[in-house]
Amino acid sequence: MNILILGGGGREHALAQKIDESPQCNQLFVAPGNAGTAQIAQNLNLNPTDFETVAKAIKDKNINILVVGPEAPLVVGIKDFFENQSDFKDLMIIGPSREGAELEGSKERAKIFMENHNIPTAAYQSFTAETLEDGKAFLDTLKPPYVLKADGLAGGKGVLILKDIDEAKGELSKMLTQNKFGEASQTVVIEEFLDGIELSVFVLTDGKNFVTLPNAKDYKRIGEGDTGLNTGGMGAISPVPFANEKFMQKVETKIIQPTIQGLQKENIDYKGFVFIGLMKVGNEPYVVEYNVRMGDPETEVVMPRIESDLVELFKLTAKQQLDKAKLKISDQSAATVMLVSGGYPEKYQKNKSIQGLENIDTKKVTLFHAGTKIENNQILTNGGRVIAVTSLADNYKQALEISYDQIKNLCFEDLYFRKDIGFDLG
Ligand code: ATP
Repeated sequence: MNILILGGGGREHALAQKIDESPQCNQLFVAPGNAGTAQIAQNLNLNPTDFETVAKAIKDKNINILVVGPEAPLVVGIKDFFENQSDFKDLMIIGPSREGAELEGSKERAKIFMENHNIPTAAYQSFTAETLEDGKAFLDTLKPPYVLKADGLAGGKGVLILKDIDEAKGELSKMLTQNKFGEASQTVVIEEFLDGIELSVFVLTDGKNFVTLPNAKDYKRIGEGDTGLNTGGMGAISPVPFANEKFMQKVETKIIQPTIQGLQKENIDYKGFVFIGLMKVGNEPYVVEYNVRMGDPETEVVMPRIESDLVELFKLTAKQQLDKAKLKISDQSAATVMLVSGGYPEKYQKNKSIQGLENIDTKKVTLFHAGTKIENNQILTNGGRVIAVTSLADNYKQALEISYDQIKNLCFEDLYFRKDIGFDLG
């Protein structure tokens, strides 16, 4: 099988590594990739949302499986683009149709889906500029804090959680009438605040059958103790210690099964990953969000725990035969710590030389590159999030210790990382 992965972050490096392990993988390509993927695959310098160029690469390289890493190409319909062309009828695509991708692309759509299929989630209503006053009145019926969500994609910034009712009304007005998040906030979902602890559950589905992949918990804020600005993710742990078997059974019956049945009932073409963001309130799971791809940095702890052949799982997904899949998951815990450029998630510098990579003990940790590139045989920083340092051990604390110990070998100017990943897990 020749396989092309779209994307260029730590998630794509982790997917590439798992795919590269498969005896069924012949040639592996990543577009655009990074300095890490260049070591195990051929990077193709193309933009994943430029479908014509992707199509040309698929033809040139005789690609059999296309794995879509980020949400952007899915939300604008990459699956539908290829589906309508007879030249690509044998191409297997891991990622949902545009309709399926709406579960991430529109928060209102996701809420309606959950409502239709009785999937536990926070109570909500949605509003537009015309119904601004109704939105304010709805806020008056809720208890603080108030949760306002731009309906569309807003780069992880479109959710506001506010304690003060007047501020909440003001922000609602800015979102609906002053384009606070551009087109994304033409509709705003207002929902009840869920007081609990978050975790993420990952599923691979063929639209009918599914396998549940390892769960994970990520650390989104830049500062220790979960303070400061939101980032793409500063670290992750898998499995989540508080998600015991009983709880995960509830997740499966109350959330995963109705989600997959819902896709089927609504005739949604969905062959790919579902990332379900959950809040555990007491002992009950509630869906906070759906994403239609893997998470980053969660992939960097989920993939290393999957012992099954990922290419085989992808083939079964494409043939809608995932019921035949044998999924083997490692009992070990994985932890990853993200090294970032100083200043991230605000202004930061690129092109800093990364030193010490040769001193890393690769038997102990795996480095998944995110924002890196190679220039004149030197590995340089090329983004806010630079490298994820992942390790496996008997428990997450030991895994973290190994990662933190190996990080001492690495440096680049203004290197920053959180030293408290897993701090809230007891
Ligand atoms: P992401 O950046 O994770 O993609 P997003 O912009 O798609 O986020 P959500 O995941 O829906 O938006 O919300 C962002 C965060 O806000 C959640 O991870 C959670 O911490 C918090 N949040 C969202 N909805 C609620 C809620 N109803 N109650 C409490 N917290 C919430």
